[in-house]
Amino acid sequence: MKLKRYISSTAIQNRVAQIGSKINKDFKNKNLVVICVLNGAFMFCSDLIKHISLELEIDFIKLSSYKNSKKSSGKISILQELNCDISRKDILIVEDIVDTGLTIKFLRNLLKKKNPDSIKVATLLHKTDVSNIDFKIDYTGFEIENKFVVGYGLDYAQKYRNLKGIYLMS
Ligand code: 5GP
Repeated sequence: MKLKRYISSTAIQNRVAQIGSKINKDFKNKNLVVICVLNGAFMFCSDLIKHISLELEIDFIKLSSYKNSKKSSGKISILQELNCDISRKDILIVEDIVDTGLTIKFLRNLLKKKNPDSIKVATLLHKTDVSNIDFKIDYTGFEIENKFVVGYGLDYAQKYRNLKGIYLMS
């Protein structure tokens, strides 16, 4: 498998810092709970929260999407639920990538039922040509083409998550 560098580690770090400072302004005086979507967002999330100087809680949810290759629809299941109570809290979902948008739609709807005061979404990557969502993504690291990428938390068959940059696979 060949990897071609797509987004450098420096570009990622600069963008993550920018998003962090925007979040510091937007969530001032809020009850911030960061929800890291496992596995892919672990690296983005851990770098992002280092740039957030507000008091916050962090929790993790693990989702799995089983995509049927013949249909574009996918079934998503919860592999690990949240541990904290998010009612009356201001939620920041941290995702690795929005592709079709099915996962983020599913998660937003799931969290809405738990009565938070607000929900915002941060994603490192967004395949804007592919996604089909009827809400805005509040913080996007990079809008990318419809290509399969790995690195910085994103895997192919559980590998490449440790790479500092984002790579295209061919
Ligand atoms: P969606 O539900 O938006 O179609 O897909 C979201 C999930 O699909 C992501 O959280 C990620 O796990 C996976 N995914 C989508 N596109 C890519 C990609 O280009 N590379 C990798 N490694 N995973 C992807």
